[in-house]
Amino acid sequence: MASRSPHTRIPLVGGNWKMNTTRAAGLELSRAIAAAARANPAAEVAIYPPFPYLAAIAELAAGAFRVGGQDCSAETSGAFTGQTSAGMLIDTSCSSVLIGHSERRHGLGETDAILTRKLARAIEAGLMPVLCVGETLAERESNRAHDVIDAQLRGSLAGHPEASLANLVIAYEPVWAIGTGRTATPDDAAEAHRTVRQTLADLYSARFAERTRVIYGGSVNAKNAADLFSHEEIDGGLVGGASLNAADFATIIAAAAARCQA
Ligand code: PEP
Repeated sequence: MASRSPHTRIPLVGGNWKMNTTRAAGLELSRAIAAAARANPAAEVAIYPPFPYLAAIAELAAGAFRVGGQDCSAETSGAFTGQTSAGMLIDTSCSSVLIGHSERRHGLGETDAILTRKLARAIEAGLMPVLCVGETLAERESNRAHDVIDAQLRGSLAGHPEASLANLVIAYEPVWAIGTGRTATPDDAAEAHRTVRQTLADLYSARFAERTRVIYGGSVNAKNAADLFSHEEIDGGLVGGASLNAADFATIIAAAAARCQA
C-alpha cells in the first residue's frame, strides 16, 4: 500500500445500474442508498439508473446522492430518435453523466471524436461528467495500457480548456475487469491512475492533475473496496454489479468515506 498524503479530493462512489432493476426495485434500492449516503457524508455518492427511472429516483434522493445519466447525446436537441440530451438530464434533476463507458465505446462503437462532443454538451448543461477510459485485455497483455489510456484522454478531451473541466471526474475502467469478477490490484489501478494524472498534467497543469478525481471501476465489491480505496491515487469507485445490492453498496460507500478518516 502506498504511503498516504492528506486527501484533498472528496471520494466519489458511483453506482452504474446499466439496464437493470425495475422502477419498484430501483426505488427500494435508492432508499437504502440514501440512508448509506447520509450516514457517510465524507463520501459523495452518485447513481446512474436507467433513463426511465431518473425522475422518480432524483425526487427520492432529495440531495442525499447525485443522480446521473448513463450517457447523453452529442447533440443539443432535434431529430435524434432515442437520444437524451444533457439539458434533458438537468431538467430531470440529474447532476452528472457517464461519458464513454466501455460498453458504449466497445459495444456501440463510440469514438473519442463523439465523446469529446458529448463532453461538451455535458459541460454546457452544467453536469458533472465522469469520463471513462481503460484498456482491453489484449492491449494490457501487449503492454499498451499506458498508451491507450493516454490516447483516450487526449482524444476525448480535445478542444476542452482547463477552465471548463472543474467538475471533471475520470473513471479508469480496464475493460477486462468490468463485470468479470477480475479486479485490478490496487497497485495496478494506482499505476494507471498515475498515467491519467501524467496526461492531465501534460495537457493542462500539475495543479489540475492533482485536484481532479480519478476513480477505479472493474468488479469493485464489498470485500475489495477498502483495499482499493486505501491507495492515495484511487479517489473512489465506479461500481456496476455490486451497486445493485444495497448492503454491498453501503459497505463500498463506507469504505470510500473511511479514506477521509485514515
Ligand atoms: C461498470 O459498469 O462501470 C463496472 C465497473 O461494472 P462492474 O463493477 O460490474 O465490473
